[in-house]
Amino acid sequence: MSLLQETKLILRRYGIKPSRKLGQHFLVSERIIEREVEVAELSGGERVLEIGAGIGNLTGYLLEAGCEVVVVERDPLMVRVLRERFPGEKLRVVCGDATRVELPPFDKVVANLPFSISSPITFRLLRRGFERAVLIYQLEFARRLVAEPGTREYSRVSAACRYYARARLVQRIPRGAFYPPPEVEAALVELVPVEQRPDVDEEFFLRFLAALFPYRRKKLRRALALAASRLFGMEEVPPEVDAELLERRVFQLTPEELARIGEVLRRWSTGESG
Ligand code: SAH
Repeated sequence: MSLLQETKLILRRYGIKPSRKLGQHFLVSERIIEREVEVAELSGGERVLEIGAGIGNLTGYLLEAGCEVVVVERDPLMVRVLRERFPGEKLRVVCGDATRVELPPFDKVVANLPFSISSPITFRLLRRGFERAVLIYQLEFARRLVAEPGTREYSRVSAACRYYARARLVQRIPRGAFYPPPEVEAALVELVPVEQRPDVDEEFFLRFLAALFPYRRKKLRRALALAASRLFGMEEVPPEVDAELLERRVFQLTPEELARIGEVLRRWSTGESG
């Protein structure tokens, strides 16, 4: 029986109507699941976190790889399916919202994410730390995550992600790999944490990016004044920022340059500089 047939059978047996609001699009392509597990480079005994496991189409492969799997799933009906489909296996199921519940310890993350929580769950995981994450996103979000400076997709999310990790778009995934198919294409992304994060104040850097990127097409000189106004209510620019940088546009600055500029602004605002 194919995974698609099995999925339809389980949905019928439990009377499940996949919820669009909860992003219930189940992976039915064995090839894609195998690729996702392969990229995760799992070995027996590793603790793997899966966010939004649905009826467990990916979960089964994680268990087969000999991992200790913890699932966070919001829908109680899915939780019931998971417990009945994998009885007595090394599987722990937590019923709750993955952006809010306390997360148990884990080494890696492997998941086909509900698209509506892509950004909050990604940054929650990045801040928490892990060895490697292999995640399925909407193609558009995946492109923003991996975007290089100077490109159309380079955004707050790209620069913020890069502070924590290197992101690689492994492959695109057609809509037909899911049942029911979503409206847009998806992509498989690998995240590997950087060995050393830039030496800056993490909280402030993220707030700085959020204040600066609304002006991504403006020159830094103007954008920085507007960002300072958002952050501190005053349109001034610290004198220590390189004149050369001030003439570049925000979307042309590398994450490292942004980290340095943010730090200058932070020190200046607290009177630490000079
Ligand atoms: N990984 C499975 C299912 C993907 S569908 C597969 O590939 O087949 C996404 C799943 O995430 C759904 O089961 C949905 O109920 C769950 N979900 C949605 N929002 C969630 C949240 N905030 N926290 C945890 N799970 C959530």
